[in-house]
Amino acid sequence: MNIYVLLKRTFDTEEKITLANGKINEEGAEFIINPYDEYAVEEAIVVRDAHGGEVTVVSVGNEEAEKQLRTALAMGADKAVLINVEDDVEDGDQFTTATILSTYLKDKEVDLIIAGNVAIDSGSGQVGPRVAESLNIPYVTTITKLDINGTNVSVVRDVEGDSEVIETSLPLLVTAQQGLNEPRYPSLPGIMKAKKKPLEELELDDLDLEEDDVEAKTKTIEIFLPAAKEGGKVLEGELNAQVSELVSLLHNEAKVI
Ligand SMILES: Cc1cc2nc3c(=O)[nH]c(=O)nc-3n(C[C@H](O)[C@H](O)[C@H](O)COP(=O)(O)OP(=O)(O)OC[C@H]3O[C@@H](n4cnc5c(N)ncnc54)[C@H](O)[C@@H]3O)c2cc1C
Repeated sequence: MNIYVLLKRTFDTEEKITLANGKINEEGAEFIINPYDEYAVEEAIVVRDAHGGEVTVVSVGNEEAEKQLRTALAMGADKAVLINVEDDVEDGDQFTTATILSTYLKDKEVDLIIAGNVAIDSGSGQVGPRVAESLNIPYVTTITKLDINGTNVSVVRDVEGDSEVIETSLPLLVTAQQGLNEPRYPSLPGIMKAKKKPLEELELDDLDLEEDDVEAKTKTIEIFLPAAKEGGKVLEGELNAQVSELVSLLHNEAKVI
């Protein structure tokens, strides 16, 4: 089975976001595999081990993403592909990323593609479904269970706390939700082996894509941080008076009642 994982390099969840010149400041920040993509890598390895085949991890980004791809290889993926767009794309969006990924995948014999449900930074949840649409294959998002029997697939998806069971078939794209599995940590032998596993680097040219073909469809007008939180208010005095004051504040100041 040919399994592909779409992997994004994202800010570490512990990082404090700051802005510089209207952009998110990446200076000195730690980067990780997008956490939902870790579930995707783990599931791909489990499916491969059960059904045979190969896991290829693909990322669109710059050469820095090599580190996260090597981590996925150390977890147990077989091959990695970095589509390095540093010199060709300045302002990309979800269309850009999905077009590049689907162009790479369109002439591959794909059985299963696993993406993350959402990237924890830009967080649009668009890339997976866009790739599936371009490849004209079915997709199921936010999955918490995946069972494959021949080409039949049974998927459980999370619908805001409830579960939905969907029967579909390969080739298929799914996006991984928390709860799908417990991603493994790379072992020491895994890390050693990963150094020798193939990591192919491609550019737009190699995919016969021009900069115009992937030009962003959206424009980010402004990026800003949420307003700083004001200090809390402690009400004092008689309980009845506190309740009256609270109601008045909720009505007149917070305007929520
Ligand atoms: C060269 C470049 C320039 C960019 N410039 C800008 C900019 O100027 N302004 C701006 O706001 N954003 C920019 N971006 C970010 C970009 O708009 C989005 O982050 C990206 O398209 C993915 O959307 P998302 O983060 O909402 O992912 P989601 O759709 O939320 O991600 C869901 C899943 O899709 C897959 N996925 C997402 N991104 C990638 C990837 N890069 N490689 C492989 N798999 C992926 C992963 O499986 C992920 O879990 C740029 C991106 C690139 C590559």
